[in-house]
Amino acid sequence: MSEKARPIRIAIFSNQEAPACQVVSLPFSLEGYPPVELEIFQGVASLSPAEVRQALKERQPEGFDIILDGEQLALDLAPEPVVSGPRARMLEGLLCQLQEFRQKQEINTGIINSATDAIVTINEDHIIIGYNKGAEKILGYTREEALGQNLKLIIPPPHKDVHQEYVRRYVATRQPHVIGKHVRLTAQRRDRTEFPMSISFSVAEVRGNLYFTGIIRDITETKEMEDRLLQSERLAAVGNTVTHIAHEIKNPLLIIGGFARQLIKATELDDKARQKLAIIAEEVARLEGMVAEMRDFVRPPVSQKTLGHLEPLLTEVLEFFQENFKEHHIQVRLQEDGSLPPVSFDANQIRQVLINLFKNAVEAMPRGGELTVATRVKGPNVEVSVIDTGEGMPPEVAANIFTPYFTTKEKGTGLGLAICNFIVKEQHGGRIEVESTPGKGSTFTIQLPAVEASAD
Ligand code: ADP
Ligand code: MG
Repeated sequence: MSEKARPIRIAIFSNQEAPACQVVSLPFSLEGYPPVELEIFQGVASLSPAEVRQALKERQPEGFDIILDGEQLALDLAPEPVVSGPRARMLEGLLCQLQEFRQKQEINTGIINSATDAIVTINEDHIIIGYNKGAEKILGYTREEALGQNLKLIIPPPHKDVHQEYVRRYVATRQPHVIGKHVRLTAQRRDRTEFPMSISFSVAEVRGNLYFTGIIRDITETKEMEDRLLQSERLAAVGNTVTHIAHEIKNPLLIIGGFARQLIKATELDDKARQKLAIIAEEVARLEGMVAEMRDFVRPPVSQKTLGHLEPLLTEVLEFFQENFKEHHIQVRLQEDGSLPPVSFDANQIRQVLINLFKNAVEAMPRGGELTVATRVKGPNVEVSVIDTGEGMPPEVAANIFTPYFTTKEKGTGLGLAICNFIVKEQHGGRIEVESTPGKGSTFTIQLPAVEASAD
């Protein structure tokens, strides 16, 4: 049907108090048919046949295609195409429901389409049957290009066939592996570039057919931040190793050099031996210089404190973690007990502390949980608590967590809390403490000295 097709005009005579149709969003159309326009005439019972005719003419001079006359008020309107009695009421009901249904559908489609995430639905055969605007933007294919294609279109080569196999397996076994979870994968844009995405899957069964929907978010930025963080933790690890080695080497070198210089002065040595000792002393001095230089190189930077409020920093770091929390099914609560007085702090360093605490909390709640960040004034200090409902730790672990390299994780560095400790205690003159119950959760509390208002 061409779009210009003349609409089908239907008049509905209704004598009920309530409007015949709840939703009046005219016209609507069914696929393959011209649009339908409903005209609803209410309270026609009090009109004479001539007045009814007049009302009809006023609204639609060219006449209606069908008149639904459930109340039998327009019987003498023939030869107009009148359907009357119960049949008219049934048709009226059908049309009204259809109209409401179409409107709901339009609203839903509107929501899906305006979402910023990509929403892609496939059927059991791995064919794309739903594709929103967000998907066009994130993936680069237009709706027309994507619909009807195999989902392989957007999956990069190593996973192309694996994914279809997953779907096949789910259809056969109904064993959910990833359904209902957030997973990190790589997707491929139209221009063949790949990007990291976080995707959550859901499945719906409609009349025995399964439909899989993926909500895809581009996490390029989050990923970059995380990589930078890891990088800085690695650098810190290297730095600490160097400091450690330098410390171990320094004392033996001191002894070797000291003895060598003593021996040079001994009278019973011949010149050759004395020359060799001089070389030893010289080389030791060179090594000492190198060690000192190395230590200077990795020495932690002096903190750059400014007077300010902690709240914006807390909000910023929480926001940064938002995606991460969501992915791990962690509910976040910020509990502020009034506004905090200003604190003198190095934002970069305290950011690092918060990041380390949040990261540990996430790692302690592999099956999700709750993370509460509570702030309050405690005596002369500002206190921030990071409370998780994770696995907690026994006392023998809690006693060691601030020691560099102490970790209970397979891939842990054991440096996170050591760095926190250094920053809070050494650099800010504050305190960091832990309270933990195995199986219940942990609370990390940091205190920073508040600055009295008169000081600024
Ligand atoms: P890493 O995270 O690399 O192991 P950290 O210094 O950050 O190093 O933490 C040291 C150890 O402290 C961890 O391995 C873990 O055993 C324990 N830990 C830290 N935070 C928590 C927490 N929120 N819940 C339970 N245990 C924790
Ligand atoms: Mg850690």
